[in-house]
Amino acid sequence: MLTTLAKGKRQTSRILAIAVPAALWLGQMLGQTATHTIQRGETLGVIAKKYGLSASALAAHNGIANPNKVKIGRKLIIPAKTETLTYTIRKGDTLSTIANKYKTTAAAIAKANGIKNPNTIKPGQKLKITKGTTGKPTKAKPAAIASSTLREINRPRIRRNRWKHIVVHHSADSNNSIRGMEHYHRRDRRMENGLAYHFVIGNGVNTTDGKIYVCDRWKRQIQGGHIGSAALNEIAIGICLVGNFEKTLPTAKQKSSLKALVSRLRSRTGIPYNRIYTHRQFHHHKELKSTICPGRRFNLRSILST
Ligand SMILES: [Zn+2]
Repeated sequence: MLTTLAKGKRQTSRILAIAVPAALWLGQMLGQTATHTIQRGETLGVIAKKYGLSASALAAHNGIANPNKVKIGRKLIIPAKTETLTYTIRKGDTLSTIANKYKTTAAAIAKANGIKNPNTIKPGQKLKITKGTTGKPTKAKPAAIASSTLREINRPRIRRNRWKHIVVHHSADSNNSIRGMEHYHRRDRRMENGLAYHFVIGNGVNTTDGKIYVCDRWKRQIQGGHIGSAALNEIAIGICLVGNFEKTLPTAKQKSSLKALVSRLRSRTGIPYNRIYTHRQFHHHKELKSTICPGRRFNLRSILST
């Protein structure tokens, strides 16, 4: 039974191996975006070659940080026809504004040009850009942030190398409101700058589900008050999700907002992926007093990678 099945499967996949690229090619001719489900034994390089792409372009298009770690069964978005061009940076450009212009992502441009810190780009510098032609965000791209929120996130000027870490917290109480947290930090904890975080993500109880609240400390680009070290508060961006993740899970909207926010902040600040921590990990890493925040049911890496 098993053998027959396996044989049948092999045959089907051999037929598919011919039929699928042909169908995709047709789809691409029609300007459609195609997907490819990763099969056992396939590497990004092999898949990319099949569609006339480079492995790095395919990885960047799908937001894959480590091309050696792709899961079988994952659906990849195959970019429609691509076109590479050289762009000379003008005054006032950021990687994001350039990316928008060419329907690609700041991360893809940074990667293609070996840019570690997006804040270091200079007018006159030339960039290799692979133009996206879909015009639609790909599935792997984080959910869009409301445009008014995005403006608030993008508004402050950020000093070069201002921020080194991103630390994620829970509020420890599902009923928290922004006003309540602000009041608690300012009055009870006697923090003169009020609400200790740079961003809060609501859970739908006394805050809007998935809404990113851009707090005063981000707008003013001042230190947080969210970790147990004054020196580290100076260089760590604090994000708090409302909820108690010892007891419950973050909502789906909170997770996609967190992913989108982290991605936006990374492209604005140049903070690498391995400098994003939960409060617990960060305290452990820096040998500070241990904490359970943001709760054992909170899985940061899985949120950032799905
Ligand atoms: Zn915390």
